Amino acid sequence: GLSRHVMLKCTDFDKNLQLLVSQDITRIEQINQTRTDFVANVSHELRTPLTVINGFVETMQDYPQLPTEQRIQFLDLMKKDSDRMLALLDDLLTLSRLEATKDSDQLQPIHLSAMVGQLIQEGIILSADKQTFDTEISANIWVKGIQLDLYNALSNLVFNAVRYNHEGGHIQISLEAHDDHTVTFSVTDNGPGIASEHIPRLTERFYRVDTGRSRASGGTGLGLAITKHALAEHGSQLLVESQLGIGSTFSAQFDTIQEPQRVSLLGNIET
Ligand code: ADP
Repeated sequence: GLSRHVMLKCTDFDKNLQLLVSQDITRIEQINQTRTDFVANVSHELRTPLTVINGFVETMQDYPQLPTEQRIQFLDLMKKDSDRMLALLDDLLTLSRLEATKDSDQLQPIHLSAMVGQLIQEGIILSADKQTFDTEISANIWVKGIQLDLYNALSNLVFNAVRYNHEGGHIQISLEAHDDHTVTFSVTDNGPGIASEHIPRLTERFYRVDTGRSRASGGTGLGLAITKHALAEHGSQLLVESQLGIGSTFSAQFDTIQEPQRVSLLGNIET
């Protein structure tokens, strides 16, 4: 940090002092800028739907005789925008929970094969027959982590594959053990793909390749930021391979653990 460099270097008046301090200040300025941008983004993202809801409320107050049909239409739109705000607030809470430092005793054995199985079911439900699925899960894979966080991380990848893919698209989801120690989770779609200049920025908060499409699909713009944080918590990182017009693959590798043995009340080990 800044203070450490200053203390160290002040004793011997190193010529590099100036340079080191200014580098650190640049870093602090960057962090401050990121924070300012974040608050501005959140405010904007909340203000937009709230303005819409507010407008409909005013209209309904001004025209108490509004025909039922129109009333229903307004209420539907208000519901959609309040859902959007709730989704955003949920993602913000998830992000701040992820940023809180965690004790290692919060890490639990997770049955990753079962989690991925459940994710696939949810992906299929979300897709509502608009896409086909091809899945492959290595059985009995366990990792150490925080169930909810890992679930959030992986579900964003599956849901994005569904939400950004076209009708009739194809999605491959796999959990593949390499050896006794590592496993790779991956989601491949044959959707629109992502141009290479966007890829390094995908995990930034509120970064969207196609803003209109992302909002229309119900995205908060925080999904991959959450995935990145949650994967880091599990000692993993997000890999993205994508080709415009061909599709995308999002994957992450994990260290596996032995299946935990259940100890019965009598103290015998059940396997
Ligand atoms: P959002 O809530 O907008 O989906 P994400 O952080 O999950 O936000 O993703 C960031 C952006 O990355 C999206 O807005 C979208 O443009 C792009 N993206 C993510 N997944 C895919 C995918 N499978 N195919 C194409 N584009 C994607």
